Amino acid sequence: MASPLEARLRALIEANGPLRLDAYMALALMDPEHGYYATRDPFGEAGDFVTAPEISQMFGEILGAWLINAWDRSSRPSPVHLVELGPGRGTLMADIARVARRLPHFRRAARLHLIETSGTLRERQRAALRDVPMPIDWHDDLGDVPEEPVLLVANEFFDALPIRQFQKTPDGWRERHIGLDDGGDLAFGLGPGAPAGPRPEASPGDLLEICEPAQAITAGIARRIARDGGAALIVDYGHAASGVGETLQAVRAHAFVDPLREPGEADLTAHVDFGALARTVRGAGAAVLGPMPQGEFLLTLGLLERAGRLGADKDEAEREALRSAVERLAGSGQMGQLFKVMAIVTRDVSLPPF
Ligand code: SAH
Repeated sequence: MASPLEARLRALIEANGPLRLDAYMALALMDPEHGYYATRDPFGEAGDFVTAPEISQMFGEILGAWLINAWDRSSRPSPVHLVELGPGRGTLMADIARVARRLPHFRRAARLHLIETSGTLRERQRAALRDVPMPIDWHDDLGDVPEEPVLLVANEFFDALPIRQFQKTPDGWRERHIGLDDGGDLAFGLGPGAPAGPRPEASPGDLLEICEPAQAITAGIARRIARDGGAALIVDYGHAASGVGETLQAVRAHAFVDPLREPGEADLTAHVDFGALARTVRGAGAAVLGPMPQGEFLLTLGLLERAGRLGADKDEAEREALRSAVERLAGSGQMGQLFKVMAIVTRDVSLPPF
């Protein structure tokens, strides 16, 4: 069965020719009528995938403590804009806000901003944050946040941004695109076009991925931090050094599926190239801390101690749930190693645990 979006994409390709992968991803994820994020809440055990804030409140509490410490170390600007990119269900921001509201100076200074394009998820976020005693606004992009100091967080946001893929062939680089095969199904092919910017050493068959929106958004964050002050934490799965290799993946009901089948019905992501983001940050005049594995970040900032305190007056089943959450967030076979944490700060700052 073709998904409604698949029928539209076929008609589009028949009329206009093959699509670039970034155009395909943007439609599959964010089309207002049929896009994956626009039409559902995909998170949790009953959904398609589980993110760190949905595993445990400890994740948001530790990120919140890091951000508030960064504010404290930069002479406590007021107002300060606490911004989240792609907040999903709003769980991470709710956990950060719970830490923040206990600190009167910070609570009075903070204005919350959620950058979210999905109307369905904005409603979820509104419900999750209804008791938060600080002003909250929603925006389509960071440009609408006032030009004042920011504390920004993005968890599993950059992996959802559309990528382009280029393949090295014996005749040079070609861009991967999506057309139709003889049976009329969506299929990958190669079109003209070489990547702009740095090209790594590659052999025929190798794939290079670039994420232009990630570069543009990172440059925007870094320019702001360099100019207005503040700090950002970017958490995602990815690699610290740029290189070749395919990482595009589609996930549905906790399993990998074919990225070209039933567009709009599966999550599409690619690994984040932290090396490329770090170069962009430095080029924009800000500094980079990390990236560091998520497990090391959380454990150094007290994940075990926090789990111990939360478990102190609980029964054995709840303590076992906390142990399992620690393992999922920080264990090296789970999120602890593949997920990385990178901070963007002003040039003269160093903040633990980096
Ligand atoms: N941070 C959340 C959700 C991650 S999923 C968590 O950790 O659970 C990706 C989120 O980014 C979703 O909320 C999705 O709707 C949003 N999103 C994806 N592309 C976006 C874009 N270009 N602008 C704003 N939000 C976007």
